[in-house]
Amino acid sequence: MPEDYIKASTSNEVTALLRRHGEKARVIGGGTMLYELESRGLLSGVTTLIDISKLGLDYVKEDSSGLRIGASTTFTDALRSKQINSRPAFGALVDALSAIRPVQVRNMATLGGAISSGLPGLDLPPASVAVRAKIALAGSRGRRTLDVEDFFLGFLETALKRGEFLMEVRVPRPPAHTGSAFQKLETNSVDWAILSVATSVTLKNDKVSNVRIVFGGGVVGAVPMRATEAEEAVVDAAATEDVIGRAAEEASRSTEFADDERASADYRRQVARVLVRESLANSVERARRDKG
Ligand SMILES: Cc1cc2nc3c(=O)[nH]c(=O)nc-3n(C[C@H](O)[C@H](O)[C@H](O)COP(=O)(O)OP(=O)(O)OC[C@H]3O[C@@H](n4cnc5c(N)ncnc54)[C@H](O)[C@@H]3O)c2cc1C
Repeated sequence: MPEDYIKASTSNEVTALLRRHGEKARVIGGGTMLYELESRGLLSGVTTLIDISKLGLDYVKEDSSGLRIGASTTFTDALRSKQINSRPAFGALVDALSAIRPVQVRNMATLGGAISSGLPGLDLPPASVAVRAKIALAGSRGRRTLDVEDFFLGFLETALKRGEFLMEVRVPRPPAHTGSAFQKLETNSVDWAILSVATSVTLKNDKVSNVRIVFGGGVVGAVPMRATEAEEAVVDAAATEDVIGRAAEEASRSTEFADDERASADYRRQVARVLVRESLANSVERARRDKG
């Protein structure tokens, strides 16, 4: 169990501590995953926890480039923010945050923690891929930004390098008539999802000009995975029920699902058809309302 708990005051202090302690130090956000990590032996060798709550990273801002969400923003604060919940284009984020039921977790857990834990089965990773988020990192050698799709590398594995931590999640301003949504099936409100899916759709004259269909990780591979064949099948098509149904069929057919103690691959394939159809239908309905 870690012995030192340091409340850092600046990002330079955090990166210097991470550089100095290497694998023995961990940044923490809300700390809601520490028990899980410790109980699986994933904190063995960690001696220092670095609390970043005093860095002023609890904000949701919007400027001409899009949304900027500080790493320390809790799920509850993100859900309450007008910038996120007033635009149908960000519906996937709202759906995913609302799907995390224990209110105590929503009040403590942070966006930084949900993305950087590298646990692909969480709800925010696929939602962040659907809305094309970018991840801003600070490190001892400076700052860098990368697409969230390039951030998730494997189970508990991210693009974070030694000395780096996640400072901000950015969502580039989507074009008008964009809607997104998230759906999941779970055995109970605190278990991992049997299957989750996030989608986004941009419409031009009621035709699909851009689409993303993303399955949550863990049951389709180690990271959130796009159903690219299904995406290609609907681009330029009219946003009708038939087209949505075809995309759902294609996503379910072309994706390889895992068998585990929660469900068989075959069951997941059937669930995928339903969840993708519902999520795409919600995205289209929201895109029609989205004013940009
Ligand atoms: C009872 C319960 C129910 C849950 N149900 C759900 C659910 O339904 N859906 C779901 O998606 N999730 C669920 N979760 C998981 C929850 O989403 C995570 O615990 C939460 O996202 C972790 O955020 P945190 O800020 O508390 O991270 P922490 O616990 O502080 O950290 C988690 C990991 O991320 C690293 N980290 C944190 N912040 C940063 C940063 N800024 N930069 C670099 N590394 C960082 C830490 O070093 C650690 O490895 C549940 C958790 C609990 C306890």
